[in-house]
Amino acid sequence: MTLGHEPLVAEVLSTGTLKGLPQEHFIGGRYVPAHSGNTMESFDPARGRPFASFAAGDAADVDAAVAAARKALNGPWRQMGPAERGRILDRAATLLRERAARFAVVESLDSGKRLLEAEGDLRGVARAFEYYAGAADKLHGDSLPLGRNYVGFTTEEPIGVAAQVIPWNYPLSTAARGIAPALAAGCTVVAKPAEQTPFTALMLAELLHEAGLPEGVLNVVTGTGAQAGAPLVAHPGIDHITFTGSVATGTQVMRAAAEHVTRLVLELGGKSPLVVLADCDMDVAINGVIEAIYENAGQICSAGSRLILDRSIAVAFLSRLATRVKGFKIGHGLTNPDLGPVNSARQLEIIDSHVQRAIASGNRVYAGGSIAKSEAADGGWFYEPTIIEAQGASDPLAQQEIFGPVLTVQIVDGPEEALNAANATPYALVAGIYSTNITDALRFARDVDAGQVFINEWFAGGIEVPFGGNRKSGFGREKGMAGLRSYCKLKSVVARI
Ligand code: NAD
Repeated sequence: MTLGHEPLVAEVLSTGTLKGLPQEHFIGGRYVPAHSGNTMESFDPARGRPFASFAAGDAADVDAAVAAARKALNGPWRQMGPAERGRILDRAATLLRERAARFAVVESLDSGKRLLEAEGDLRGVARAFEYYAGAADKLHGDSLPLGRNYVGFTTEEPIGVAAQVIPWNYPLSTAARGIAPALAAGCTVVAKPAEQTPFTALMLAELLHEAGLPEGVLNVVTGTGAQAGAPLVAHPGIDHITFTGSVATGTQVMRAAAEHVTRLVLELGGKSPLVVLADCDMDVAINGVIEAIYENAGQICSAGSRLILDRSIAVAFLSRLATRVKGFKIGHGLTNPDLGPVNSARQLEIIDSHVQRAIASGNRVYAGGSIAKSEAADGGWFYEPTIIEAQGASDPLAQQEIFGPVLTVQIVDGPEEALNAANATPYALVAGIYSTNITDALRFARDVDAGQVFINEWFAGGIEVPFGGNRKSGFGREKGMAGLRSYCKLKSVVARI
């Protein structure tokens, strides 16, 4: 499918920016400036330079957005039947497909991700709206078997105003997987995109209103976590929080939620194990590893960041993998290189500090191992695609999320040791296994602690598949019908007859 992005890419590459980006909050169905009048800048990660500014929101803007969302909860949105809500979401899916080129270019420019990946994200985002459009009028309760003298049933009611706090690695995908089910369930929303990537959430709000969403049903406030995120999650007018981000911030959000007993879903970090057994199809597994850790320069909560590899194939596997990785071209995400930049100077520093500490401790490096300095880097924030071996399961490299293009390798003997290694971190988001023995693969799926398990294809599945973590990776589920129920409150009704 050709998306017609060429003129937009040419504009960015020649001028360093794109005309017509939204610069204000979206509250009550229209763009409004920050109450304080303050703005901040967003950076092109491939050049390390600002390309546009946007509203720096604070508690006053959050108050206005929550007020708009509360008002909208009792407006036309409440009267609208589920089928009509679904129709609006379906129109949004159509508009997203029509405007995918512009959305994808903005997403790539703002986050740094390769354009091909951003285009894939757009397809997923349109699918999310389509999926929940179809689900809106199928959100039925149960009838309860209480005997002849009673009629009992349950209903699923919208939870109210749902706050969405969104990270910078999948700005639009994360927004969509929260906003689409919340709207399908009949909630209203206040979203706070990451300060590194504010634009596509604003564009999405505008598009949804064009698709027929009543004013105030979806509001977007931009700004930092401290200035705009913290007042949002602590707001008494919020009924539910979906937070996607780091464990450290998630812990603060959970504390803030406790104050008003606000419900929440936490999607936090990961250090997800990718197990490769001796009987794998090696070509499939090598491609799988490359996608799992180098997609979006490894800045994916569900990246396969720990390769747990059977010793009997380790030498051959690592040599083939390292040869592929050393041949990667890096460059601006909009030029579709093999590897794009990481999102910020801070992220680059964090990644390098993990790797340099490991190298100083004597860990073996198979590829990469430093900040990329090639000409293609052009002042941007690039890290070499890296493969580095951990020294045992307790090595910080095997325990801590790095959130960059850095693959940690752990070498094990057989499926049992692989499983033990897989389960030996505080995280439990996703896990994967490459094996041609379906029994070994399904035993691993049964015994590994993870919210989602991939067999012979990392990232297999789509919006239909519930997603979320256990342990330090958080709790609650997004996507699938489970994601829709996150935005509902269950009511039981019993009548004596
Ligand atoms: P972060 O926690 O710093 O920021 C995430 C969001 O929270 C941003 O919008 C930020 O502005 C906001 N925020 C920051 N402080 C806040 C506060 N005190 N109150 C309310 N909101 C606040 O995360 P990050 O470092 O930008 O993102 C990377 C992390 O996100 C990684 O750990 C990664 O694993 C995780 N992540 C998880 C998932 C998932 O689905 N499980 C998806 C993407 C990223």
